Amino acid sequence: MRIKPFEYHAASDLREAVQMLSEEGADARALAGGTDLVLAMKHKAVLPKKVVSLHRITEMAAINTEGDEIKIGALATHSELAAHLELQKVVPILCQAVSLIGSWQIRNSATIGGNLAHASPAADSAAPLLALDATLVTTSPSGDENIPLASFFSGPGATILHPGQIIKEIIILRPQGRSSGRYLKLMRKRAVDLSQAGVAFQAELDPAGEKLAKVAIGLGGMAPTPIRAPEAEGMLEGLSCAEALKKIPSVARAVVAATSPIDDIRASAAYRKLVAEAFFKQAAQEVLTSLTAG
Ligand SMILES: Cc1cc2nc3c(=O)[nH]c(=O)nc-3n(C[C@H](O)[C@H](O)[C@H](O)COP(=O)(O)OP(=O)(O)OC[C@H]3O[C@@H](n4cnc5c(N)ncnc54)[C@H](O)[C@@H]3O)c2cc1C
Repeated sequence: MRIKPFEYHAASDLREAVQMLSEEGADARALAGGTDLVLAMKHKAVLPKKVVSLHRITEMAAINTEGDEIKIGALATHSELAAHLELQKVVPILCQAVSLIGSWQIRNSATIGGNLAHASPAADSAAPLLALDATLVTTSPSGDENIPLASFFSGPGATILHPGQIIKEIIILRPQGRSSGRYLKLMRKRAVDLSQAGVAFQAELDPAGEKLAKVAIGLGGMAPTPIRAPEAEGMLEGLSCAEALKKIPSVARAVVAATSPIDDIRASAAYRKLVAEAFFKQAAQEVLTSLTAG
């Protein structure tokens, strides 16, 4: 499969990258790890006239966990995130999710910014980042803009980014109370595969360590975009872990009610719903039990 000829530039800084991208408009594409873009170009799903590589912009790969805002550069690879000790401690749900992406070769090249910008409904970083209330810092020739991840995806493979606007970093607020999270993903065994269904469950206790101050449920592969399940979350917030554990079956039904999965070659909608229900029950059980244990 031949790639159609294109102009290539390696931007030396952010300003140059967004300038080059905006000059060419929809005919230009940013290149990060290339694991999605190069395939799409080979399959002629996108035919950019200009490709602007971001790889020289080293500050876009930084991971900063000091302070209340955890800042993850869009060029951080899934391998770097999965192995980051402080992230494993503070937001283990994200490390679990990215460690399940592709193979180690893919994880060494593929970036978190590319995973979000590609906007697959099944992107494995999306459900946990939604559950962590992540915000994207984007930049374009008109300046920086903060976009809550919850309003970033506009459809399968589509986002609200406009030509010339790129994701610079991802911000997650450090959980204030004791917290725990779990991400479970359905994929074919012994295969490097996209998720058929992914469930992220994140919970945080109040300062007294008695009640659930925050509950967040992120779902991948269960709707045209990665989604949250706010009604199900509301059924658990304010409860003790013991009370919440008893409500898991009814909350699982509310989780499934929030979904609208498709039938496709990888799984039927009915199967995805069954899996989401079972994964939610398992993830919630594990998280609430670990918070109870202290
Ligand atoms: C064999 C294989 C297995 C895979 N398995 C999984 C899996 O299990 N789970 C999963 O979620 N994904 C999987 N993927 C998909 C892929 O690896 C990820 O989506 C990857 O994270 C994309 O990042 P990248 O750096 O390679 O992006 P690129 O391919 O460089 O770019 C992807 C898109 O995002 C845009 N882009 C890149 N960076 C930015 C930025 N900072 N700002 C704005 N736009 C940007 C590009 O212009 C392009 O349109 C797999 C891919 C392959 C080939």
